[in-house]
Amino acid sequence: MAFNHQCKGCTGGVSISSDPVIYYSDPLLEDSSEFVNENVLKERLDLCLNCTSLQYGTTCMHSGALVSFRAKLKNKGCPFPGSPKWESIV
Ligand code: SF4
Repeated sequence: MAFNHQCKGCTGGVSISSDPVIYYSDPLLEDSSEFVNENVLKERLDLCLNCTSLQYGTTCMHSGALVSFRAKLKNKGCPFPGSPKWESIV
């Protein structure tokens, strides 16, 4: 997978894998009111995986967050400028 190295806060040196680091299954999702369920997480991460703003297969260039964690949180939304690709659930 080719990555777009345009994140202003990081460099290619932060890349930890040549493959996306995305997990769909996490027991925490069933145990906390703060997290989305696994279906919502998968929907969100599928959008991230196809987003031009995903850096290194792990990180959103707009938030600087690991999408595999940020997408778990109900109160977080996609920060894509002008047209978020997924919304918070609050
Ligand atoms: S802009 Fe949204 S869809 Fe794209 S990587 Fe960031 S959180 Fe994911």
